Amino acid sequence: MEILKGSAVAKAITEKVREQIADLTGRKPRLAIVRVGEEPGDLSYEAGAKKRMEKAGVETEVHVFPRNVDNAEFLAAFEKINGDPAVDGILVFRPLPAQIDEKALQEMIDIEKDVDCISPRSMEKVFEGNYVNAPCTPQAVLEMLDHAGVSLSGKRVTVIGRSMVVGKPLAMMLLQRNATVTICHSRTADLPSVCREADILVAAVGRARMITDVYVKEGAVVIDVGINTDEEGNLTGDVDFDSTAQKAALLTPVPGGVGAVTTSVLLKHVTESYFRRNAE
Ligand code: NAP
Repeated sequence: MEILKGSAVAKAITEKVREQIADLTGRKPRLAIVRVGEEPGDLSYEAGAKKRMEKAGVETEVHVFPRNVDNAEFLAAFEKINGDPAVDGILVFRPLPAQIDEKALQEMIDIEKDVDCISPRSMEKVFEGNYVNAPCTPQAVLEMLDHAGVSLSGKRVTVIGRSMVVGKPLAMMLLQRNATVTICHSRTADLPSVCREADILVAAVGRARMITDVYVKEGAVVIDVGINTDEEGNLTGDVDFDSTAQKAALLTPVPGGVGAVTTSVLLKHVTESYFRRNAE
């Protein structure tokens, strides 16, 4: 059984981007981060994203607003960031406070700069199979599979979870890559036997260590998207690693798996946007 770590995938993406932009003489690609408040989760993701951009030579700017910021004031500031020609990608931490018209912001964002796929138009393109920016977590799953050389065409892939953040867009992206996709959820009958049909099993459930060996076909690839805290307060995935390892050929750990790749996907998206925008 092979363990597929996110750090190797993140490093490869970062190195590739670093090489792509090393010889740029003019302005560098730039990510704008928009944060309202001081949520610890946002601050930690922001620190990781800044570090990742810096490693590759991509610039960042952070716009911080107080949690009680006025809606009109916030949207006006966002419009300026969105229209700034030096900004190639925008990351907005959500959910935003209740007084902010989040839908308006999602409609406003330039889809070229929508590196985290928050606009309904960006998501529509994911469902059409003709997308510019995919949501970072589903894209991180594909990056891991590609890095490991797992082919998708014709493979049976089962995704457990149907959220708009992970399950549904990921299923569409796998479909685009010619996989035969099954989407499971809390009402799926006999989930273990449906999962055992899969060549590739992706768990995006949000239940600590739910997926054991009874869900896994011998030799399957198992990707764990889950981020949960167990009874002892430890960070754990949806997959019971030790049990699943008895059958899987390839397995991603948590922590240190898919979650470690998302800021690299962001990096890749910002750089791709930079080159597309500069080519115009
Ligand atoms: P979510 O919105 O809560 O969706 C969970 C999905 O799992 C739902 O579709 C639900 O089915 C299904 N489900 C729940 N219990 C089930 C069960 N017993 N059997 C079968 N299906 C079941 O969660 P999410 O936002 O998609 O996130 C999923 C997991 O990924 C979470 O652990 C989250 O923390 C993690 N995550 C990780 C990253 C990362 O960077 N690695 C990013 C985002 C999310 P129903 O639709 O029927 O309710």
